[in-house]
Formats: sequence, C-alpha cells, structure tokens
Amino acid sequence: MDPRISVIQGDITRQTCDAIVNAANTSLLGGGGVDGAIHRAAGPDLLAECRTLHGCDTGKAKITGGYRLPASYVIHTPGPIWRGGENGEPDLLASCYRSCLALAAEKGCKTVCFPSISTGVYHFPLAQAAAIAIREIRAFLAEHPLPEQVTMVCFDAKTKAAYDKALAER
Ligand code: ADP
Repeated sequence: MDPRISVIQGDITRQTCDAIVNAANTSLLGGGGVDGAIHRAAGPDLLAECRTLHGCDTGKAKITGGYRLPASYVIHTPGPIWRGGENGEPDLLASCYRSCLALAAEKGCKTVCFPSISTGVYHFPLAQAAAIAIREIRAFLAEHPLPEQVTMVCFDAKTKAAYDKALAER
C-alpha cells in the first residue's frame, strides 16, 4: 500500500541512509535515549557542530553532518514532552515529522530513517504518536518526490507493532 514507507526493528545508529533523525532536546547538546546513542556513535565532532546551532524549538528541525555514522546527515528535532495532550502536543509532533522531511528533501536526501519521536522519556502515548507519524509521512510523500524512502526504525517489538498497526490502517 505504501511502497515508500517501511517499519523495521533496529538501532538507528547502524542505518546506512542519507539522513537519520535524532529525537533531540531543545538544547541540541545531547541527552539520553536515542540522542545519546547517536552522539556516541557519531563522535565528538557532532556535538561541536551542534554547539554552533544555538538550540532548536520544539517541532522544528536542524541538520548536521553524520560524522562517524553510516548516515550522511543527522536531522535533529525536539519532540514535545507529553503533558496530558491539551498543550499542543499532537500538532507539535506532526510538525517534527513535517520539518524533518522538508529539510531532508531540501538537502536532496533519498533515504531517511526516523526513530519513534517523543515516545521514550517524553512519554507521548505510543499508538497516538505512531498514527500521527504515519499520517504526516504519507501526506508529505504524496506531495514530494524526495525522500524516496522513509523507514521507521523502532528500538523494540512493542514500538514496531504500534507503527505496523498505524501503517496497516487507512
Ligand atoms: P524522546 O525524548 O523523544 O521520548 P527517547 O530517546 O527517550 O526520545 O525515545 C524515543 C524512542 O527512541 C524510544 O522508542 C526509544 O526506545 C528509542 N530508541 C532509543 N535508542 C534508540 C536507537 N539506538 N535506535 C532507535 N531507537 C532508539
């Protein structure tokens, strides 16, 4: 149904693609979870470049090199922290996916990998986050030739199941 979208279970730092997305925080100076894993795998030059960016607003995105990663670029996006759902969290999460895809297209990226933004320590409900992610990726790809392929890289089976379910629904 969606030949340009796939869902896999794996480690995003190991993906060979044009760009991986980092579920960052607004400082862009590193953190735990996938952010920590990406900085460890990329090496200290990534943090040095991030320091020049002076942070990023929630729902927006900024791009850097990939350094020691197999990906050429890292697109950093701070997802919303879940505070009950009445504080713009769904719109901000949708904006993360749109902002990342727009930056990727602008840089000519053909292949982009996303982690499950905001569903770790930011506690966005997984099923709702997956539905928003798939909806936004579908809508963007329907209007743009790039990226050609988008992969959701899920760290665990529960996360993969949620994105598989969202992809199966229309
Ligand atoms: P957030 O602060 O946006 O919630 P987290 O890093 O805490 O970000 O979690 C986001 C998702 O990334 C979670 O599903 C977590 O399991 C996952 N994750 C953690 N490490 C990796 C990794 N190396 N590759 C892919 N996903 C990862």
